[in-house]
Amino acid sequence: MRDEKYNPFNELCLTIDKAAKACGLGKEDYEFLKHPERELKVALSLRRDDGSVSYYDGYRVQHSSLCGPCKGGIRYHPGVNVDEVKALAGWMTFKCAVVNIPYGGGKGGVAVDPSELSEAELERLTRAYAAAISPIIGPQRDIPAPDVGTNAQIMNWFMDTCSTLAGGSFVPGAVTGKDVILGGSLGRKEATGRGVRTVVGEIFKRYGIKPKEAVVAIQGTGNVGGVSAALIAAELGSTVSAMSDVSGGVYREKGLDVKEILSFVNGGGLLKDYSREGVQHVTNDELLTSECDVLIPAALENQITAENAKDVKARFVVEAANGPTTVEADVILGERGIKVFPDILANAGGVVVSYFEWVQNNMNYYWSKEEVNGKMREIMVRAFADVVHAADKYSSDMRTAAYIVALARLVKARKARGFF
Ligand code: NAD
Repeated sequence: MRDEKYNPFNELCLTIDKAAKACGLGKEDYEFLKHPERELKVALSLRRDDGSVSYYDGYRVQHSSLCGPCKGGIRYHPGVNVDEVKALAGWMTFKCAVVNIPYGGGKGGVAVDPSELSEAELERLTRAYAAAISPIIGPQRDIPAPDVGTNAQIMNWFMDTCSTLAGGSFVPGAVTGKDVILGGSLGRKEATGRGVRTVVGEIFKRYGIKPKEAVVAIQGTGNVGGVSAALIAAELGSTVSAMSDVSGGVYREKGLDVKEILSFVNGGGLLKDYSREGVQHVTNDELLTSECDVLIPAALENQITAENAKDVKARFVVEAANGPTTVEADVILGERGIKVFPDILANAGGVVVSYFEWVQNNMNYYWSKEEVNGKMREIMVRAFADVVHAADKYSSDMRTAAYIVALARLVKARKARGFF
């Protein structure tokens, strides 16, 4: 699916142009958003367990610090490259603006397959990466978090390295998504999936759909896809007809046993090896075009493309992954009347609770899970309403509307700050 010509940063710029045009912004008002503030590339040397040395490229891109410290995850994946990291950083700027939290956008990554490293190698690589990008990050400057291929343990090592480099001060606010014992927030691990569930619930309300009658297909059973599936099934009572991982997908028209599938996957199983009566194996591509009301791509970018968009059968696409729909595919879906709720809104629950984690770290005072979930819900519901309002006002699709909401805030802040 990863196509050589696909450049996600160019796609982001096209989306910004479209939204700016729709709300009548001049090029000079928003052109700065096409120029990330800072791009750092680092070479990482890793001493392997067998004594040999492997080399990896690492990146950190700070797209914008206009409205606050840069914020965004760290991805460990062999496909990581600078254009991908630039796009992911840019999306973070727009995501934080659409939910109106005081952050800019950043993102980082290492071109590595973490599954090929031992735990000790993963720790050494993480510490090397944290040290290499340490000159440009910090709690008031740029705050990393988990993304594809990284997790709370990696954030713990990252935080420990930052604290050691700070001469031994405890710096929990250097990174979010840590374990709770080290200043992580209750509710952070499930936050992105919980936010997706909130958006799906709001869609059902707005379009008069009975949640229990809705059928949902979800690509990806990682942190985001897995939690989204679990909450949509348990709290909304919808039928989850399809789920997948990197090895392929499973489909059952009448609904899958989400709990059982997640415990199979979380126990280290691959879905190609999952078998139950009545459950069919499908490819990731077949999942995307399966019969459902809501399709939730929650794996990687560039999944719904010009090739398969014409076959998508869902009424709604909720982008839990970042950038799963190409610009060309977006046009095709729009023409076919399929409403796409964009990543910068749909998966913003994670960054909202990351923001709460950082606030709690700064206060050194911690909230209950109920408080975290309640405050996150409030922000997500308000952002959903802002986007829907902009879509009505500008007669636009939801992605354009979300960018209009974000652009209005970013352009206002730029004017207020000025530059030299
Ligand atoms: P993860 O690593 O926990 O899970 C990724 C899932 O995608 C796994 O099920 C994996 O098997 C599957 N996958 C990997 N390669 C695939 C391929 N080529 N085809 C199909 N499936 C594939 O990652 P995650 O944290 O769940 O992130 C998923 C998406 O959500 C990413 O786009 C990420 O940027 C975005 N996101 C994550 C967070 C967060 O808090 N973790 C927040 C916002 C957005």
